[in-house]
Amino acid sequence: PCHAAFCLAPSFPGAALRHYAFMLEGLGQTARELNDLGIPFHLLEGEPGIQIARLSRDLNAGGVVTDFDPLRVKRAWQAQAAAALEVEFLEVDSHNIVPCRFISNKQEWSAFTLRKKFTRLLEHFLHEPEPLPEQTARAEIPQIDWDGALRRLDPDRAVPLVANPRPGPDAARKQLAEFIRERLPRYHLERNDPIADVQSGLSPYLHFGQLAPLRAALEVSRSGAPAAAREAFLEELIVRSELADNYCHFNPDYDRWEGLPAWARRTLDAHRSDMREYVYTVREFEDGLTHDSLWNAAQAQMKKTGKMHGFLRMYWAKKILEWSETPEQAQQTAIFLNDRYSLDGRDPNGYVGVAWSMGGLHDRPWAERPVFGTIRYMSRAGCARRFDLARFVDNHIKY
Ligand code: FAD
Repeated sequence: PCHAAFCLAPSFPGAALRHYAFMLEGLGQTARELNDLGIPFHLLEGEPGIQIARLSRDLNAGGVVTDFDPLRVKRAWQAQAAAALEVEFLEVDSHNIVPCRFISNKQEWSAFTLRKKFTRLLEHFLHEPEPLPEQTARAEIPQIDWDGALRRLDPDRAVPLVANPRPGPDAARKQLAEFIRERLPRYHLERNDPIADVQSGLSPYLHFGQLAPLRAALEVSRSGAPAAAREAFLEELIVRSELADNYCHFNPDYDRWEGLPAWARRTLDAHRSDMREYVYTVREFEDGLTHDSLWNAAQAQMKKTGKMHGFLRMYWAKKILEWSETPEQAQQTAIFLNDRYSLDGRDPNGYVGVAWSMGGLHDRPWAERPVFGTIRYMSRAGCARRFDLARFVDNHIKY
């Protein structure tokens, strides 16, 4: 029979109670769905490469299949498993629609260069997967102590649980259906308005594998929403997200200064000693103690709800660059806060979002100005022209 397994590593960099609780509750549902299909689900604890090899030996497995992930920590687990396994070890890529290793063999320069490749390839990949063959051989279903697993992980409880979104594949399917019905028709018009808030809210489900991007893309493609809305959403879900995987896969410094494009490092270097009007410590950023109520409100939204609106994420990161002593510190502060508080953090989209906002990644030079050099700038006044800024601040900060 086919078995499924997930291994809980002793500590995942940046993950806290909010993340582990969402992941484990979702995994519990996945386990029940798999068990109902006759596929026993195993929850392992310890070093993933070693534990997977041990389970493979215990089950006398004929082969092991893993999913693609471009991040350093998971690649190390896979390398460890590859070294320890005595049977064939295969990788599929359900993290993407067109597999990352297939669409390109190099770091792409921009969304434009990757988009051109999708035009040719998407029709071969955007289709319903084959139904699962019936499982004829039956195996014993392991009993899992989910609460004990969470207790043993002992995650950072300073980042509390969030009430919404509810975890799990069932909640993910409901969220997708509700998005298609209620918000997708306006997505192309209002996705950058944090008050209208028409984004899908799917990123935590996509991040934890509780929803496949293929499922979301198929349902959106078949929906009756205006073509412009469907296209705008699929551009984010497919092109932007696969561009992030491409960067992290081909650039080992995806979360470091060295990974940024050479032109961006040059311009930031040239403006290194520019006078900063404000400089904040990581703690001041974390506690939302800047002079800018919009920035503080965005930070409060992320801390409290586990999600900052996508448009404000750009503003938020750019201001960290403007108010930090060095661009290197700014990048690390943004990654630390995003990974710690966002439910969808510790994700290729996050490392790329930060590198795009403050390091010119997948972007081009703009007009030169202090601190930023030629990195694209965003201002509070520009935000006020786009949405009801006072209302956003009022919604998230009570003075
Ligand atoms: P929707 O607008 O409904 O988009 C649907 C899906 O498309 C998203 O779930 C995501 O998979 C993909 N997507 C949307 N925008 C982008 C983008 N700009 N780049 C890549 N993929 C995209 N995304 C994360 O998933 N995790 C993060 O930690 C994260 N951190 C970010 C940090 C910064 C500084 C910035 C500028 C962006 C970050 N993003 C991150 C990208 C983007 O903001 C989020 O994916 C999006 O806001 C998630 O909400 P949603 O699912 O409702 O988005």
